Amino acid sequence: DISRLKQIEDYCYTLPSDGKRALVKLYGSQVLLETMDDKVLEQISNVARLPGLVGAAMTMPDAHWGYGFPIGGVAAFDPELGGIISAGGVGFDISCGIRCLRSNLDLADIVPVLPRLADELFRHIPAGVGEEGSLKLAPRELDEVMLGGAHWAVEQGYGEADDLPCIEEHGTMAGAVPGNVSQLAKQRQRGEMGTLGSGNHYLEVQVVEKIYDAEAARAFGLHQGQVLVSIHCGSRGLGHQIGTDYLVSLAKAAQRLGIALPDRELACAPINSPEGREYIGAMNAAVNVALANRQILAHLTRQVFAHVLPASRLDTLYDVSHNTCKAEKHQVEGRERLLYVHRKGATRAFGPGHPAIPEAYRAVGQPVIIGGSMGTGSYVLAGIKESETKAWSSASHGAGRAMSRNAALKKWHGRELIDELAGRGILIRTRSMRGAAEEAPGAYKDVDSVAEVTEKAGLARRVAFLRPKACVKG
Ligand code: 5GP
Ligand code: MN
Ligand code: MN
Repeated sequence: DISRLKQIEDYCYTLPSDGKRALVKLYGSQVLLETMDDKVLEQISNVARLPGLVGAAMTMPDAHWGYGFPIGGVAAFDPELGGIISAGGVGFDISCGIRCLRSNLDLADIVPVLPRLADELFRHIPAGVGEEGSLKLAPRELDEVMLGGAHWAVEQGYGEADDLPCIEEHGTMAGAVPGNVSQLAKQRQRGEMGTLGSGNHYLEVQVVEKIYDAEAARAFGLHQGQVLVSIHCGSRGLGHQIGTDYLVSLAKAAQRLGIALPDRELACAPINSPEGREYIGAMNAAVNVALANRQILAHLTRQVFAHVLPASRLDTLYDVSHNTCKAEKHQVEGRERLLYVHRKGATRAFGPGHPAIPEAYRAVGQPVIIGGSMGTGSYVLAGIKESETKAWSSASHGAGRAMSRNAALKKWHGRELIDELAGRGILIRTRSMRGAAEEAPGAYKDVDSVAEVTEKAGLARRVAFLRPKACVKG
């Protein structure tokens, strides 16, 4: 029910305040907001009640209901004002994100071998529930992954040092404390390094179908007809277990410190509390596991491509997370402050000139990667300056779900869907027909609208539209 919403800017709405919370801002078009579940309004209003929030609690155009925080939620907290960190505000799949690789191939190069390419990717990329990788790490080795991230993976021979500058944090997240990660979390990760996971996670061969911004496309090394590969996954069992473990300790801290939780799913603790600090150390360890994981998967992808298409090259366009809380400097009322920015199902989107952006892209802005669905398409965007004042330099991360997995299961049949997509030239490889039905393109919002509205709302600008050709689904 969006009748309660009031438009405050183009493509930005708010909910009248009850006087007990900070400002809420929902970025989106009327159509996108009409199809959004009501629970998002309730959840983002709850976030706006948390201590130490700076500015507004925000949702991106792809927002939908999540655990505690909505997916597509952005909220920044100041540690000096008692600001909090919340495990539900990061998400259980800590540092879930997308690695996008650009190739030296055009569509015509892959068309003749597409079925074989899809089969070989499916055979070599461990995907699906319970599927283990070939890498089994002893606890001490896992500690090194948690500290080194993608750097560790490169040192072990996975991928190239050239990948590192084009990964967020240059491949290694500082501030990781492996000692804050439970034995159970480490155990759960044992067979999971270099695996894709299940459900929404995917490895997709895509082709650039449309360029929106020629200058940014040139800087990103993109052109029409070019083949790309996008890898969407996160920190696997380790990240999930950290989320589970810390929900308990953060809830206890909130109680001990008298923080009133509007929803128990919003378990949180002050950034400057022992529990808050401990979670941050564990979360950063999980970020490194996710960065290492996507680095290994990029390497496996290259091996398959080298085998099927010997003259191929895959370079990292960018690797960016969409489930994090990061300490960043932002301008607040003319003063620079260190804020902890939760982006849950939201992508960091630094504008041109930001020092964290790889040099090759710095003049045009950070690459922002938006997944759509296995049947429709995805987008590459670039960060813009405006987004800094609007949303702490954040943008959408996907199309966003339009219906629950259960509703999708009732509506679609996995086998039929895969056959229908094959008829349209899109090859799906998966072990789970149930998963395929849950991931039906129709279960997601219209990614074209989300990307367009993301641009019109001043969060990021469109650079390229990507059409799926083959997709390995977890
Ligand atoms: P999440 O991280 O929230 O689970 O998913 C991010 C986004 O990925 C979703 O909002 C959805 O739009 C997109 N997505 C899910 N499955 C696929 C897929 O198979 N291919 C592509 N290109 N995007 C997908
Ligand atoms: Mn994930
Ligand atoms: Mn994700």
